[in-house]
Amino acid sequence: MTVSQTAPETTATGVPTTVGVLGGGRMGAGIAHSFLAAGAHVTVVDINDVAVEAARERIIHDIEGSLKRGADGTVGEWLDRLSLATDAAAFTGLPLVVEAVPESLELKADSFAQIAAASPDAVIATNTSSLPVSDLAATVDNPVIGLHFFNPVPASKLVEIVVADSTPEDLVDVARGWVAGLGKTPIVVKDAPGFASSRLGVAIALEAIRMVEDGVASAEDIDNAMVLGYKFPVGPLKLTDIVGLDVRLGISEYLASTLGDHFTPPQLMRDMVARGELGRKSGKGFYDYS
Ligand code: NAD
Repeated sequence: MTVSQTAPETTATGVPTTVGVLGGGRMGAGIAHSFLAAGAHVTVVDINDVAVEAARERIIHDIEGSLKRGADGTVGEWLDRLSLATDAAAFTGLPLVVEAVPESLELKADSFAQIAAASPDAVIATNTSSLPVSDLAATVDNPVIGLHFFNPVPASKLVEIVVADSTPEDLVDVARGWVAGLGKTPIVVKDAPGFASSRLGVAIALEAIRMVEDGVASAEDIDNAMVLGYKFPVGPLKLTDIVGLDVRLGISEYLASTLGDHFTPPQLMRDMVARGELGRKSGKGFYDYS
């Protein structure tokens, strides 16, 4: 099956007219909002009524943000194009389902099976930030691609399109069109550990942490080197505080196991995580937020 045979009808901005999103958490709600903003009808499925209601609240919050920034319509009008459900059967017949459940291969494989059962021809797009898309694609017969959105989705302009060996070639161009239709910029990346963004972002952060460890300069001065000298919008250590040292430690360990020792987390990073210095969310990281 090629994707062009199944390429769905699109809205005026070029996204499928009907889209499913599995998992209405931080990312799934943002992704649902983006497709609503592009004119699609969106079906969001989450595990139970409480989770579905939380997803609805998140999406309403994002819609209100869009309206404040000048988007057309009312919250009610946007919500007319949103359906919420607790069973993946609600995806029946949809041409595209974006999976945004928590980062576990087992959970995502189970989710893929549910999507495939409801819609055997649907393109399944995974929002995984680190798992091999090829491993997920191998669990179903549907065409599979990675669409890696960034947090917060409404404000972020980037989507990494992650191409597995089994991803149909023409799906890559179709996906580029969808991302452009969402008003975002696609970059196309091979299904390799850390894709493009995490691999490079974490590499720079790890070197910055080693420099603090070696006493080369203070965290503030290292960040200023990159912000003022290299025009980074935020320094690598402040960004590590924002993302969470524990999150970046996990990614580093995964990248070290797949790409080699240059991703081995510095001892300082391990020590800070062990002390609970996780960054902004814990009140202390490379900077003090108390
Ligand atoms: P989250 O915990 O905020 O949301 C996950 C949602 O999935 C929850 O609403 C949960 O109830 C739901 N869920 C759990 N099991 C489910 C199931 N079996 N069926 C349906 N729904 C289920 O997580 P998140 O931060 O939105 O992350 C989701 C995915 O996006 C992960 O793969 C993550 O790695 C990736 N991602 C996250 C970020 C980020 O900054 N948070 C950025 C890029 C990508």
